[in-house]
Order: sequence, then C-alpha cells, then structure tokens
Amino acid sequence: MKAVPFFEHGPVDVLQYCEFPDPVAGKGQVIVDVEYCGVNHLDIWTRIGISGKKIKLPHICGCDIVGTAKGQRVMVYPGFSCGKCKYCQSGHENLCSEFAIIGGMSDWNGGYAEKVAVPVRNVITIPKTLKSETAVTLAVSYLVAWNMLKANGADKGKTILVYGATSGVGMATIQLGKALGARVITTVSNGKKREFAEKLCPHHIIDRTSQNIADEVKKVIPAGVDIVIDHVGAATWPTSIAALRQGGRLAVCGMTSGNDAMVPVRMFYTKQIVMTGAQLGTNAQLQELIRFIVRKKIKPVIDSIYSLKDAKQAQSKMEANLHLGKILLKCK
Ligand SMILES: [Zn+2]
Repeated sequence: MKAVPFFEHGPVDVLQYCEFPDPVAGKGQVIVDVEYCGVNHLDIWTRIGISGKKIKLPHICGCDIVGTAKGQRVMVYPGFSCGKCKYCQSGHENLCSEFAIIGGMSDWNGGYAEKVAVPVRNVITIPKTLKSETAVTLAVSYLVAWNMLKANGADKGKTILVYGATSGVGMATIQLGKALGARVITTVSNGKKREFAEKLCPHHIIDRTSQNIADEVKKVIPAGVDIVIDHVGAATWPTSIAALRQGGRLAVCGMTSGNDAMVPVRMFYTKQIVMTGAQLGTNAQLQELIRFIVRKKIKPVIDSIYSLKDAKQAQSKMEANLHLGKILLKCK
C-alpha cells in the first residue's frame, strides 16, 4: 500500500510518501480501507517526538480515520486500552494505564495510509446522514472538546472562553458549546481569522494581539466566565485563571505553547477554581457526540483537503498556523 511513515523523529521532511507493507489484522482486529484521515496537532508532536517517550519506528501518524471495513462506511475511535481493568470495565477506558492513541505516540500505526489495522471494538458505523468529510473531524478535537464541555457542565446559560477559533478544539468548542446553549467567547490573532470566527457566530471575539484577553472577558462578562477550555498550555494558564469567575472551571487538554506553566497560586485557591484534565474521550462519548452532531446538523469547517502524497504540505500548513478549520488527507 501507499503510506506516509517516518523512520526517525524530526522536522516535517522526515515524512516519506512510499510503498509500505500492508497491515495484517491481528486477533480481534479489522482492516479499514482509509478514505480520509484528519490532520491534528498530535500528529506533529508524534512526528517530532516527546522526550522520554519511545515508540516503534517506522511509525504512521493519523488518529482521525474514516474509511470502509467489511463493506460498511466506518470511522475509528482512536483510543486503545486493555479492556480488562476497572476503568475499561466501567466505560472510562481513557483512564486505563495502557491507554494509547492509534496513530499517536503509540506503537499503533495510524491513518496516513491506504489501510490501517484497528481493534474491531474501535470501529463505529457512520450514520447515512453524516458525510465522511464531517465524520473524519470528530474523533480527536471534537471528541476532546465534547468530553471537556460535558465534564464541566457546559449547558444552557453557561459562559465559556476558548482560545484560537480557527484551531480544531477552538472551532469544536464554539460549535458544540453554542449547540448546548452556552455563550462562547473566543480569540483570534489576525483579521482573516476574525472573519473565519465570525462565521461560527461566537458570543464575542477577542484579538489576542491587541487586546488583553482577561480584561476583554470581564468587559463582556464582569464576573468572569464559568469555564475556560485551554488547549494552549503554558502561555495561557495565568490568563485562564484570571478570566474565570469565582468557583469557575479550568479544563485542560493540551499544551501547544509549552509544558511548564507559571500559575498565580493565590488567585487559583481564593477563586476556588476547579481544574479538570482531558485526554481524548471514551468510545461511548464519541458515539454520543456523533448523534449530537447529526441531530444539531453541525458542520465542522474544512480548511483544505490534501492527497496522501502531500501529507508534508498538510502538516507544514498546520505547523505554520495558517489553517482555518480542519485539514484532511484524501487517502484513496
Ligand atoms: Zn484498561
């Protein structure tokens, strides 16, 4: 098959479009013929490598997978877990000590390929009314946004701040939060991104290059927001804490700006902030999300579709932060 593995960690040039051995389905696994694979920041982290975390090389990235298996149009829940521990048995498989993401920093090859082997229990049939181009955006950024919104009670009347309207988690939080009845404030860094954000109709848009985010939030919601969805990390934690109301909730799912945050500890405890971490979500949450997306007719915005052989350009665009919405690879 054709695939885009990397044989060593490094910059985007380590991605190689080439012939690669077809995957073989092990016990309890099935082969998916990949139609589309979504590009996520996780792919870039995986390709660069995380110090102290070793994976088997060569490795194929790609966790947002849609294709066909046994004649059915399917998508893949990308979380792998032991299936036996108390967390797996109680439907909290993303807490499993063996939890790994297919196509992420794990020994599971992902969807930058014409075929991928995945556990049968991870395969979800796509409803007829859901387009493949929508389904392929859901299993990573939309799922983690859904997980954080549900875990933090984002429903009617709640107020939310999410950074980066044009990012996967940003767009997902705006669309899902609004559909749940919440008011969502978001940030952008230039006029083009503001135009994009306006189409998603958030409650308020802040230009982070010329405005102080926490001050702007307080102008719109003087007490501060109920929930901050933070996928940025070190650069935004102090702002997140400042923008929250007393007793507000900080939901964290990423660290695109860095791992080591300086936090105003006194403000954190005097405001009695509750903090939650999220890694992906569960298979059941993904299925719940799919039903919600269909029912609310939510359409994630696609920035661009690259052919599999152009995976390098696709990742470069994301790395340069030039994308407005989701980037997809067409794999066949
Ligand atoms: Zn387990």
